[in-house]
Amino acid sequence: MTPSLPLRPELQGLEPYGAPQLDVPVLLNVNENPYAPSDGVVADVARAVAEATRGLNRYPDRDFLDLRRDLATYLARESGVTVAPEGIWAANGSNEVMLHLLQAFGGPGRTALSFAPTYSMYPEYARDTSTAWVTAQRAEDFTLDVDRAVAAVAEHAPSVVLLASPNNPTGTALAPAAGEAVLAAAARVPGGCVVVVDEAYGEFRREGTPSALELLADHPHLAVSRTMSKAFGLAGARLGYLAAAPALVDALRVVRLPYHLSAVTQAVARAALAHSDELMAQVGSLRAERDATVTWLRERGLTVAETDANFVLFGMFDDRHAVWQGLLDRGVLIREVGPDGWLRVSIGTPAEMTAFQDALVEVAGL
Ligand SMILES: *Cc1c(COP(=O)(O)O)cnc(C)c1O
Repeated sequence: MTPSLPLRPELQGLEPYGAPQLDVPVLLNVNENPYAPSDGVVADVARAVAEATRGLNRYPDRDFLDLRRDLATYLARESGVTVAPEGIWAANGSNEVMLHLLQAFGGPGRTALSFAPTYSMYPEYARDTSTAWVTAQRAEDFTLDVDRAVAAVAEHAPSVVLLASPNNPTGTALAPAAGEAVLAAAARVPGGCVVVVDEAYGEFRREGTPSALELLADHPHLAVSRTMSKAFGLAGARLGYLAAAPALVDALRVVRLPYHLSAVTQAVARAALAHSDELMAQVGSLRAERDATVTWLRERGLTVAETDANFVLFGMFDDRHAVWQGLLDRGVLIREVGPDGWLRVSIGTPAEMTAFQDALVEVAGL
């Protein structure tokens, strides 16, 4: 008899998650930074990796305090908010940071709550940690409906609330008053509730849009996660992190695998962080390109969601798949994601955005 594999029932028949990785000239589908690291960054990263390699016979620094100090310094410069290094946590992408959060604060018999439409990985973290998953709907314009959000927290009594700001795939930033209302509702959940604000696209927020980092000092049940994958242009390095009260971080230290962050990853991240000025300048031009793309789409009569991210959700198309396919046929890969009728385009270089616009004019007859 052929032995069967004891796959968990909830995993049976599932496919691994992931956007298509297709080989086409213009890749605008996974919100990457279109600019490769500069020669200066490449040289410093290579030097740092060579240095780290000399010590690879030893396990890495398990608590990576040097990296946490550098990340705290960066956050202070980027947002003006001071966080102690002990209030920083990092892992292999913010995907792993989020998994640590669910491992520590979710689990069997507990619930994670989010607001749809939102990031499609969230239900996977819940599933993989045997945490029940529930969503409430965002408002028509994709902002958080405060009354509905507060009611959903009271109804479901989640131990974790996941809130992306700017939200993926809509680009919507969380209004500070909405964030505070959810935090207040979470504080009333019996047994406690951690609110995670996922600021993977935080650096792209528009002038006047505050970061949830500003709420940290008053809210020990808040975690604000960030990543080097998007603004920093280091998606391939896999470094995500969060800021929170040190007591919350200490809980994550319990569930992480020992030595989860390799010495090479730590060295790469620190070398890149030393170049954050250069990065901030580049983020400025991507935001300008984003705003220009929004204007261009609106001028052509399309509906565009307000966006504080490095991508734009636009529509409405009766047959969005045909538009997506038409763009792909012209060498432009975007993402078919979000509510029906909408498409999402990541912000690329000016040349890539021109290619996108030219293709869209042809395909959609704008
Ligand atoms: C891209 C993205 C992330 C980042 O994931 P990494 O693991 O850090 O690459 C996190 N959250 C959202 C909503 C994202 O879109």
